[in-house]
Amino acid sequence: MTTRVTIVGAGPGSADLITLRGARALASATVVLHDALIDPALRELAPAAEWIDVGKRGFCKSTAQARINALLVQHARAGGHVVRLKGGDPSVFGRLDEELEALAAAGIACDVVPGVTAAIAAAADLRRPLTRRGAGRSVALSTAMTRAGELVATRGADTEVFYMAGRQLAALSRRLLAAGWAADTPVAVVSRAGWPDQHGSDHRVDTLPEAVVLHGGRPTVVIVGVGATALSAGVSSLEEILSMTPVRAVSKS
Ligand code: SAH
Repeated sequence: MTTRVTIVGAGPGSADLITLRGARALASATVVLHDALIDPALRELAPAAEWIDVGKRGFCKSTAQARINALLVQHARAGGHVVRLKGGDPSVFGRLDEELEALAAAGIACDVVPGVTAAIAAAADLRRPLTRRGAGRSVALSTAMTRAGELVATRGADTEVFYMAGRQLAALSRRLLAAGWAADTPVAVVSRAGWPDQHGSDHRVDTLPEAVVLHGGRPTVVIVGVGATALSAGVSSLEEILSMTPVRAVSKS
């Protein structure tokens, strides 16, 4: 069976965060079914393909998952190479299971190409590792929303990264306290991770509600625990380091 569908993780932000394998899949695509938050610059990687927006955003008007599944099958049966381009990594809160099952039921071969998930991009933006030698041995990626629309918070790992909580930071703060996190536990909130306008801010579990004004309306992850802790040496960006260090101009002869 030849592969007619490739499910590709686009990464969370700018187009250059896609993998080379993902870019190669796009280069041979005839149809691209893409999520809403995909960088438009990715279109340059598949200029000849037909691009179809099947995006869903939060509680806004959405394209039902059943419709996406049907489109996948329909376009694959038409004989082209369909790329299903998903934000971040397809296997993290991406409803990959439902798409894989729909393709399997239709007897259509498919490959999955991983992508950079939002939590990993956020850690890179903050320059704060999610694991720390000796102190942070485990990381959990959790959705704050249950299928029934209920907000839940847990304390299952040294670092917990919550997705889909941006609209309910006050409620998340209360649930974190109830789950046993100390009020002064560090919390880092990052919105639009991996984009040029990414923004990160520092809070504590009990002051988390204040982050709403900084990140409202933007895709946001909430990092709680060890991974949210600033490094003691205050590791900075290259520009900051250079601005602190006397730099001698090196002239090329
Ligand atoms: N598959 C995606 C997650 C999809 S669920 C991934 O691996 O990243 C959508 C949620 O992901 C959003 O509610 C938000 O919590 C998070 N998210 C997606 N893109 C983000 C970004 N650029 N910055 C911060 N959070 C993001």
